[in-house]
Amino acid sequence: MKVGGEARYYIKVGTIEELREALQFAKERQLPFFILGKGSNCIFDDEGFSGLVIHNKIEFCNLNETKVEVGAGLSFSWLGTFTAKNNLSGLEFASGIPGTVGGAIYMNAGSNGLETKDFLESCNYLFQDGTLRQFDRGELQFSYRHSPFQEMKGALVSATFKLFKSEEARKRQIELIHYRKNTQPLKDCSAGCVFRNPVNAKAGALIEASGLKGAKIGGAEVSLVHANFIVNKGGATSKDIKMLIEHVSETVKEKTGHTLKKEVCFISKDGFLNL
Ligand SMILES: Cc1cc2nc3c(=O)[nH]c(=O)nc-3n(C[C@H](O)[C@H](O)[C@H](O)COP(=O)(O)OP(=O)(O)OC[C@H]3O[C@@H](n4cnc5c(N)ncnc54)[C@H](O)[C@@H]3O)c2cc1C
Repeated sequence: MKVGGEARYYIKVGTIEELREALQFAKERQLPFFILGKGSNCIFDDEGFSGLVIHNKIEFCNLNETKVEVGAGLSFSWLGTFTAKNNLSGLEFASGIPGTVGGAIYMNAGSNGLETKDFLESCNYLFQDGTLRQFDRGELQFSYRHSPFQEMKGALVSATFKLFKSEEARKRQIELIHYRKNTQPLKDCSAGCVFRNPVNAKAGALIEASGLKGAKIGGAEVSLVHANFIVNKGGATSKDIKMLIEHVSETVKEKTGHTLKKEVCFISKDGFLNL
């Protein structure tokens, strides 16, 4: 979103060994650490982050028949396009989601009725104590924008997806990209959908019905294109965004009776993650 202060430490890691060393560095100094994918779902505090930001750039991609094994730092959007171009179906929805594979698994990102978990076969996770473990899909309980990795301390390293052959995949992926371009504010900086959809309702529709499209605090604005996005119209601070989110929550509650839960992650100065 182009907001937030500086991190005390920052490192880019391209291999498991580098990731292990970075996690060890944080452990030895008792520093909070934060695994950064593409930051497309994150809002950092204006005061910055007092720990270590570990930027995951483990980016390999091996395609074998209908299985694709990828590094957790690989672009999820690229993967959606690449697999569709290879006539493989399952991840067309990923095309246009501006995160990494690791971020998508961690958030169980989804769209158009599909979620990251749906075609996941297994993934490898490095715990902060240095243990590398493979998790098979059957061992993992996912739900709407939730994965068990949100309760673990470490980082996703790689994943394998099992797809199926389809001549329609590329056509479907292009249709989804066009739909996204027409319905989301892609020209402005945002962190994607701010709120999760309540059961049997759409957060965007509730916000719009509450008359909040275009509502502004400082440089933060409820998007005129899609009401569940808050965009940075220039010079927004993390505080502006937080205040606008609170204003939207309170107004929607008052006008529709619905309680909205946040989908974006706020990272406080001392590393507290507010999911
Ligand atoms: C324009 C726009 C459109 C979007 N559309 C969608 C959509 O259709 N559907 C949807 O679900 N989301 C959407 N998003 C939100 C976002 O892109 C997804 O949640 C994405 O999966 C986040 O990936 P990331 O790499 O950017 O994660 P980040 O924002 O970097 O991190 C998000 C969380 O994941 C954790 N994380 C990241 N990588 C790892 C790793 N390797 N190991 C462990 N933890 C990790 C981080 O620590 C953090 O807690 C959209 C965002 C934008 C800006």
